Amino acid sequence: MVRDNLDGIEKGICEACKRVGRKRDEVVLVAVSKNNPPEKIMEAYDEGIRHFGENRVQELIGKMDLLPKDIKWHLIGHLQRNKVRYIVERVYLIHSVDSLRLAEEISREAEKRGITVNVLIEVNVAGEISKYGTTAEDALQLVAAAAKLPGIRVKGLMTIAPLTENAEDNRSHFVKLKQLSVDIASKNIDNTSMDILSMGMTGDYHVAIEEGADMIRVGTGIFKSEGVQTWA
Ligand SMILES: *Cc1c(COP(=O)(O)O)cnc(C)c1O
Repeated sequence: MVRDNLDGIEKGICEACKRVGRKRDEVVLVAVSKNNPPEKIMEAYDEGIRHFGENRVQELIGKMDLLPKDIKWHLIGHLQRNKVRYIVERVYLIHSVDSLRLAEEISREAEKRGITVNVLIEVNVAGEISKYGTTAEDALQLVAAAAKLPGIRVKGLMTIAPLTENAEDNRSHFVKLKQLSVDIASKNIDNTSMDILSMGMTGDYHVAIEEGADMIRVGTGIFKSEGVQTWA
């Protein structure tokens, strides 16, 4: 089941890349495994997937302990400052830095351990009031401030586009995030790169790839099955 789903997603990624003259290896597929049990994650692992995303710290830690150590874990959900210490040393990338206070906490915990943590700045490009993320207007300032902190390296931007029936509705949001990353990159801020654009989910990853996504976060499209699966 997971294997068939992955085949479909892989085909969709290749086709989207082809339409805009990109190479398949320019796009990293992060399998969003939240709410799915370790056995299901292993089905994707056995198909060669190594990047997995979770949105809750407790669930992430529980799974890390049970699953192979070469998995690259992505924290993609809202991160509370009091949870930072549990994950800084163990995650590959934090996608959801949306305030300077959170960046400062990550920096503090990273410094204690003598490590550098890679992060993305989450931008609420669509301006949805229900969503976390800095505004497009404040993004540059947050990137610049975070970049000055020790133990943290800003690698790019992330957005969660609105839930929509029609993926085309989100194209303008993806274009906006891409443009924002180009603008920020042009400022040549020290200790910062804009190499990663994390955007696109099951319903709209193909549009996100066409507009420059380097990382897509796909959950349902990989782990869906006939029955309802939950695990936490
Ligand atoms: C759940 C989630 C996804 C995956 O969504 P699907 O529509 O299931 O692909 C991607 N990003 C974030 C931040 C999520 O919480």
